[in-house]
Amino acid sequence: SFQDSDNTKSEASAFDAPAASRLVTELRGTFASGKTRSYEWRLSQVKALAKLVADHEQEIVDALQKDLAKPPLETVAYEIAMLKNSCKVALKELKHWITPEKVKTSLASFPSSAEIVSEPLGVVLVISAWNYPFLLSLDPVIGAIAAGNPVVLKPSEIAPATSSLLAKLLGDYMDKSCIRVVEGAVDETSALLQQKWDKIFYTGNGRVARIVMAAAAKHLTPVVLELGGKSPVVVDSNINLKVATRRIIAGKWGCNNGQACISPDYVITTKEYAAKLVDALKTELEKFYGKNPLESKDLSRIVNSNHFNRLKKLLDDDKVSGKIVYGGEKDESKLKISPTVLLDVPRDSLIMSEEIFGPLLPILMVDKLEESFEVINSGPKPLAAYIFTNNKKLKELFVMNISAGGLVVNDTTLHLAVHTLPFGGVGESGVGAYHGKFSFDAFSHKKAVLYRSFIGDASVRYPPYTTTKQRL
Ligand code: NAD
Repeated sequence: SFQDSDNTKSEASAFDAPAASRLVTELRGTFASGKTRSYEWRLSQVKALAKLVADHEQEIVDALQKDLAKPPLETVAYEIAMLKNSCKVALKELKHWITPEKVKTSLASFPSSAEIVSEPLGVVLVISAWNYPFLLSLDPVIGAIAAGNPVVLKPSEIAPATSSLLAKLLGDYMDKSCIRVVEGAVDETSALLQQKWDKIFYTGNGRVARIVMAAAAKHLTPVVLELGGKSPVVVDSNINLKVATRRIIAGKWGCNNGQACISPDYVITTKEYAAKLVDALKTELEKFYGKNPLESKDLSRIVNSNHFNRLKKLLDDDKVSGKIVYGGEKDESKLKISPTVLLDVPRDSLIMSEEIFGPLLPILMVDKLEESFEVINSGPKPLAAYIFTNNKKLKELFVMNISAGGLVVNDTTLHLAVHTLPFGGVGESGVGAYHGKFSFDAFSHKKAVLYRSFIGDASVRYPPYTTTKQRL
């Protein structure tokens, strides 16, 4: 399972609980001044964030090269462009989001009017992960700002170049009295978690999520937990195999070499179809990454030696010995693992017992595709689930029977890019959601406001409670 970071202490480890407490007190002062509530402040800060991203694209690409050898195109498409779009949506929609929503009232309050007022929660904490370290840090921050909250961001120490770039750029571009970055690892995060926040937004693994939730519970602080899981791909036989294969590859190896929360984790197909699928995967993988994928510049490396060894262990498991049908090459000195496909993997193997989060793709075989539902539903609820099929009935059954954070039919991962869809998990894959308006809502309280006048003062609610009144 996911371990604590390599370096549990950051170099400048002066950030302790008293420092965290001072920071929160300072931001509470700013919040109390009302500054962050104004439409103009929110707009100016989202604009500043958009400018920060636009002004420093190359530095962002370079930082991700250092941290993950992430291919520039992936950084531009999945971190920079996504952030720009989130800013664009927030800037366009903010006026509408902050406008109170008029709602109908009931007879019990007649005559009256009512509205739902979105108010900022207060001072919020965002703790983010290393795999999409720019996007996963700033995307929630956009929601926090749009909703009018001061925010502290704690980027992941496992992507140190990005973490320090974030600290520098946010310091340069954003309003320091409300938006701060704390760099560091377990000690610093623990110091932050001891404080009382009005919301904690955490992205990462389920083990640390339990630490976060327990710390939040002490103050009754609500949380959003963006976690992971084993996202399955069900592959039917009546499909355009080439397109399906390319889309599986794009979602798996084309997303940070499998180190993405919604990357396909494993495939389920029928015994009859498996060989065809494996052949197609081999053909397309070779077209994309060449004969020596360890040398490919289009594949990220494994983030660090902890994760490299964790993945190596999954391959060394006796239960999958002889099951590799493609790839399996490793270069420990460069932390590289090639795209690896395993066929006919037993369900009780190590690789099927935890989220893989890397370039290994096991394929499970079933007699009938409907059996895949039982396989998926027997484990914790995944963050995403995918199916490739042209069978209308099967699509319907999949949507009805599979519980996951999100589903995609005939593609992988793309639901993440649709800002009108909530992005988040269910069960062990997470609590709460964000993206687009859902980000604004994640950091807002929906305040119920009922307006009455002095007319229509029905005596029925007042004592004495006579039988006549009771009959009404
Ligand atoms: P990580 O190691 O960067 O940890 C995430 C954060 O937790 C970091 O900021 C880290 O400092 C902090 N942390 C680590 N140990 C801690 C402790 N003991 N106490 C307090 N804080 C601590 O990232 P990770 O967990 O390896 O990320 C990978 C996991 O995150 C996978 O499960 C993946 O599926 C999930 N993930 C989910 C999403 C999503 O949007 N749902 C996105 C990316 C990753």
